[in-house]
Amino acid sequence: MIVGVHPLAGFDKLLHYKVPENLRAGVAVGTLVRVPVLNTLRLGLVGEIGGPKDFPLERLKSVAQVVYPFPALTRDLLQLARWMAGYYACPLDSIIETMIPAAVRGGAAIKQEKLLVVAQRLDDEALAALDKRAPQQARLYRFLSQQFKPQRKALVLKRLGLNAAVVNALVKRGALREDLNRVEREAYADDFARGELVAAQPPVLNPEQAAAVAATAAGLAKAKFGVTLLHGVTGSGKTEVYLHAIDTALKAGGGVIFLVPEVALTPQTVARLRSRLEAIAPGHRCVVWHSHLSEGERLDGWLALATGEARVVVGARSAVFAPVHDLRLIVVDEEHEPAYKQDETPRYHGRDVAVYRAKLNSALCLLGSATPSLESYANAQAGRYALQELRQRVDDRQLPHINVVDMRVEIMRSRGLTTLSRKLADAMQLRFEKKEQTILFINRRGYSSSMLCTECGHVEECAHCSIAMTYHRTDETLRCHLCGEQRNAPVTCPKCRSPKIRWKGLGTQRVEEAVRRVLPRARIERMDTDTMSKKNRFREVLGQFRTGKIDVLVGTQMIGKGLDFPNVTLVGLVDADISMHIPDFRANERTFQLLVQVAGRSGRGDRAGEVIVQTFTPQAEAIQFSRHADFAGFAEAELKLRKDFKYPPFRHLIQHRLRGKSQEKLKFFAEQWAKRVEQTFGDRIELRGPSPAPIEKIKDEYRWQLWIFTGSVTKVIGELDRLRSEFPWPEEITQVLDVDPVGLT
Ligand code: ADP
Ligand code: ZN
Ligand code: ZN
Repeated sequence: MIVGVHPLAGFDKLLHYKVPENLRAGVAVGTLVRVPVLNTLRLGLVGEIGGPKDFPLERLKSVAQVVYPFPALTRDLLQLARWMAGYYACPLDSIIETMIPAAVRGGAAIKQEKLLVVAQRLDDEALAALDKRAPQQARLYRFLSQQFKPQRKALVLKRLGLNAAVVNALVKRGALREDLNRVEREAYADDFARGELVAAQPPVLNPEQAAAVAATAAGLAKAKFGVTLLHGVTGSGKTEVYLHAIDTALKAGGGVIFLVPEVALTPQTVARLRSRLEAIAPGHRCVVWHSHLSEGERLDGWLALATGEARVVVGARSAVFAPVHDLRLIVVDEEHEPAYKQDETPRYHGRDVAVYRAKLNSALCLLGSATPSLESYANAQAGRYALQELRQRVDDRQLPHINVVDMRVEIMRSRGLTTLSRKLADAMQLRFEKKEQTILFINRRGYSSSMLCTECGHVEECAHCSIAMTYHRTDETLRCHLCGEQRNAPVTCPKCRSPKIRWKGLGTQRVEEAVRRVLPRARIERMDTDTMSKKNRFREVLGQFRTGKIDVLVGTQMIGKGLDFPNVTLVGLVDADISMHIPDFRANERTFQLLVQVAGRSGRGDRAGEVIVQTFTPQAEAIQFSRHADFAGFAEAELKLRKDFKYPPFRHLIQHRLRGKSQEKLKFFAEQWAKRVEQTFGDRIELRGPSPAPIEKIKDEYRWQLWIFTGSVTKVIGELDRLRSEFPWPEEITQVLDVDPVGLT
């Protein structure tokens, strides 16, 4: 038996080896093996069984070890990796590295640890007796029975200051069991904890949900590739639809990947999902996958999937690569989230990769959102995706009322700058008195100020790009970050001649101060990347908020996603304009998403919610359409704009970003390179730039960019990449090719 092996470092190569008799059973395409390369042993993946004809067998070396007796990459993942390498123009090695967790790549042995599991529930009487006779045993038992999942023996004993004899006695009694299980088996093995969790009863579906469930079930029954876009307003119960689809897929013997944005992976969500999943599919373990897992936990989850022991994974972006067997369904919740795009090599989009992986497996991809990306929505309109809509909130709860406060009027009234309008301040006061909670959002994604006329609301925009010009304080200019157009910053409004020009830029800190002035006795907490740098702080604050220990939560949109707090009856968006004026053609889309998602945080309980949005441009479409959560209206208007400017989703964008220490050199090479691209591709592409990136200089490094528009990435990317590698770049210029970029700063 001969196999071709791709070394993990240098995956493009295929080296051939003999397989000794005793290892043959464990070898298949995708198996992780150790093979001799020169004089060392290297890890590699079996890429093919067999080799070219008339191979000099006697000269071949032998496979030294089979690391795991099952494939580390399934066939579809190998295909997916090749497709990604081509589509995103990135090294195959970087993708393999992303697909296989470090612990697996390192060929780690399966680490085992002793866990303590409650085997039998002691009633109060027995426990009281135990208290008297063996207080230490009682203490250990109590502790374990209150835990959510089996505990590590060594850790518990150390924490409680007990020795192993106490465990042995309880085991003998039959109250405890020691499990030599892999690390992190979680609640699954614990019958006791599971009994508590199953309490999450599935609700009775409303007619819209039932229709969506029926449609996805029909899609799954076909066992053919398909994509369904589930557009459901906030609080419409999309999760129920996902859960039913997952149930159907599991009952059909298939595997499932459930993707959520990283921030949504709060312990509450995970616990809720897990309990429901394990209730609908008893005996199924649900693997959780995100970036904060320890190596051991990750390895354990990965092994459970790779061996077929578990068939469901819920996780963030990279869970799209989980080695799930017989994949039938991939759910992408909040599919519009920019967080699905990885901002380092390989720069893949988790949603798009999910669609492609579903295709490779003839599976169903279910994309869900209250504010679908225009890419997905356009695909649905064109009939490429099926569309399912949930227009009602569950139980006919009202969508919150959105009040738009015109800050131009507010500023006139207060004769100066205000952070919080009268209306918002009063509403907060009222909530505080009623012991209800408020969330204030201040979207800080605006990093530099734009020019705004406080008289007429005018914001200077570029004539060519339909985005706001950015104010550069250093040389008093307004510049377009997309095409590079530049002019002197005006002293009066170009539209109405008013001198009341303002350079905008509000931060969370300033808002927090303003809240303290309005509500001196309230408990206020700020939540942004500055205050949340400490681990677990995020969880802690959310916990306090949930239990009512905080009255007002001030934060960036990191608190805007997927949270469900029944006592929040007021949500304020302090400055809706920032996101509208970021130099990005998706600025309107982001603003609309932000408004709708933020509004969706209000009124999730029995009380109706109110939303107050402060803006200088109340007439803006993103704001007007969001007042009634009119996604279709917004999408129609925005898609028309995109079409006029030929932006995505009407064409693909490839962003080529160049960086260098010398501004002149960078500019020179960017221009030479642009010429080369233009000559080579002619009108097969449209080139815009080169121009300085929106943030032109970061850490003494200048950044320039080219935008390449094309109808088909696959038709140009290979050639572009080759051209790029042949171009005589000076060593100090670094570059990034980003296909379908989502953040353009
Ligand atoms: P979405 O993701 O669409 O914003 P969720 O799936 O989070 O909404 O559902 C919102 C809330 O409504 C959840 O607490 C959920 O348990 C509940 N829910 C979902 N469907 C129903 C239903 N048919 N009847 C009653 N409550 C429901
Ligand atoms: Zn004006
Ligand atoms: Zn421009």
